[in-house]
Amino acid sequence: MYHVRFISVTENYDSDKTKNNTGGIPVTIQFLKNEYYSRDLSQKSKSAKYSKMQKGEYIQKNCYYGYKKEENTLKIDEPAANTVRLIFLLALQGYNYTQIIKELYNRKIVTPERYKKEKRRQKIALYSPYIWSATTIKNILSNEQYIGTYVMRKTVIKELGEKSTKREEKDWIKIPNHHEAIIEKEVFKQIQKQLFHFKIKDTKQREYFLKGKIYCGYCSHTMQRSRHKYPILSCRHSEVDTSFPCYHLKIAEKEIEEIVFQMILKQINMIKDTKQTSNIEIQTKQKVELQNQIQFYHKKKEILYEQYIKGKLTEEQFIKINLELTKELEPIQNKLEEIDFQLKYSKNKNTLQNQVKDIIKDTPLLLNKELVNFFIDKIYIFKENHIEVKWKIKDFLQKRQ
Ligand SMILES: [Zn+2]
Repeated sequence: MYHVRFISVTENYDSDKTKNNTGGIPVTIQFLKNEYYSRDLSQKSKSAKYSKMQKGEYIQKNCYYGYKKEENTLKIDEPAANTVRLIFLLALQGYNYTQIIKELYNRKIVTPERYKKEKRRQKIALYSPYIWSATTIKNILSNEQYIGTYVMRKTVIKELGEKSTKREEKDWIKIPNHHEAIIEKEVFKQIQKQLFHFKIKDTKQREYFLKGKIYCGYCSHTMQRSRHKYPILSCRHSEVDTSFPCYHLKIAEKEIEEIVFQMILKQINMIKDTKQTSNIEIQTKQKVELQNQIQFYHKKKEILYEQYIKGKLTEEQFIKINLELTKELEPIQNKLEEIDFQLKYSKNKNTLQNQVKDIIKDTPLLLNKELVNFFIDKIYIFKENHIEVKWKIKDFLQKRQ
């Protein structure tokens, strides 16, 4: 009658949302009072978290770049906070993402990821720790945390075991003045207006066969794919520094696809070649034969030793005959090792033959995702279209025995 909307944050109740399927506000309030309202465990822990956060506590495990956790509250982490201030300042002066990235690189400021690892004294092998991504900078420039607001319930997990999805901003819970601000509210507001004009390149890429497989041969970073009609793959990491060996490293996608496809075809032909696999039976027989021979020698040695213990042979005689037997045994053992190796190779190949049969049933065979995934782990790109492939299978092109 009075147009009252009743919201209970801790009970996750909103009368507007449940207008027609509950007994109305009076009934609901009665339920809440009596704690009949059903609550699951996760809901309970969320409520506890909320009330703690409202008191200014910080109970999350990790904190944002620029802050550190001290006695369950957020404190400013000065070195990182200075970088945050710098980024805002640059943006305020009208720098775009690329210009900010260049400036941070020139000032040799390590990325938040690197910063965190250095603080924990974890070792990481990154080629350059000073190359920031536009996404990181965008996230910093739009993070309300830096004006002292704590934002809760940004994401939601709809089903147990599923990945969390982002909620709409109107459903977030914001706790202002939760902790010390790094950026003034006015500056932050100004930047939000500006951000609207900042464009970030759409990183969503059209599916392509070699997705996630192409790496820079010099710095091991994933190579970026341009969104042209004929895409080019290039190492983004060298963009800002001409001294990198991979500076201006580029390759056309069509070109690399062609090279990789030819290499895969060669592997397939090697696998399809049945010369080796037809030998499995013979090799197995040979293996058993050799094992028997070795057994026979061991028996001989046992007898020899017994005779020596019983005093039928002198020490000198024993050593001499034993040495002869060992010498005779040696080539047999070598032969066994070799046969064993060949047998493993043939069996390996035999298994692959069966697997490949399924993959290459399409004719004519064209490069496709399945083919790439079956054969290729990683592809490293070097200058002058030199490429190196890390195969998932045994490389039949190189080590043919
Ligand atoms: Zn590189």
